Amino acid sequence: MRPPLILLLAGAAMARSVAERLTAQSKWYVIGSIAGVTPSPRPLPCKTRIGGFGGAEGLARWLRDTRCSAVIDATHRFAAQITTNAITAASATQTPYLRVETDAWRKPANATWIEVDSHQEAASAVPTGARALLTTGAKTLRPYAERNDVWWTVRVIDATAATTAGFPSDCVIASRPPFDIHAEIDVMRTHRITHLIAKNAGGEAARPKIDAAAQLGVSAVLVRPHAPPSGVEVVRTVDAVVEWLEDRLG
Ligand code: NAP
Repeated sequence: MRPPLILLLAGAAMARSVAERLTAQSKWYVIGSIAGVTPSPRPLPCKTRIGGFGGAEGLARWLRDTRCSAVIDATHRFAAQITTNAITAASATQTPYLRVETDAWRKPANATWIEVDSHQEAASAVPTGARALLTTGAKTLRPYAERNDVWWTVRVIDATAATTAGFPSDCVIASRPPFDIHAEIDVMRTHRITHLIAKNAGGEAARPKIDAAAQLGVSAVLVRPHAPPSGVEVVRTVDAVVEWLEDRLG
């Protein structure tokens, strides 16, 4: 008999740790799911499907067809749609659902930073003449591209997203996380960065840029995440995911 099937919705760095831990225990059969929006996504350490489900209805169909026993939602804190869809689909099919997400970063003692609610506000908060490292991701670039009075260094996974948004190719760095603190310090020094623009997604994987900015006296402008979804269980650690599964599925 097949062990209970767990759908792991991936997207946040923590999804990889969840996949590693769950597959190490042969009690569950884990299928990871990635949206497939970035070119050559890093494979997960579990069986993986790639691409959307076709909204909440498509996901509900998938959960029914596969007789899925639980959904673990480890998508990124700034990916709002998939979480809404997953909560709706899990409720429609009575599949247990767990959200896993990390706390947003807190301001390091010696840091200069402000937090804002939107990319529009973040773009407006950058002073004229600043040398800014923009790390907010492909879908967010337009309000920043309108600021011609700022020296941008745009770091994205796929350079075409930045050039399509209107940034000249010579200000784009195409690279993929994780970045360690040495690499972050190096980038900030090389480009004489005065401001870091980032989403406050929390988590250890992306934290080195926050620490590098604090060390170098670079001002951070952070976009706040949405509040965690209400009415569902939310946990912060891989241990808590395992505990929740043990309680639900044994
Ligand atoms: P989104 O707005 O929440 O999702 C858009 C659509 O992409 C969803 O409706 C769904 O399509 C599909 N999708 C998203 N995550 C999926 C998954 N894990 N498996 C299968 N389909 C998925 O998300 P987004 O902001 O475009 O981000 C896309 C992916 O990149 C997410 O998985 C997210 O976790 C990850 N990511 C996002 C950010 C960010 O800042 N937004 C940063 C890092 C990583 P259907 O409706 O067709 O099912």
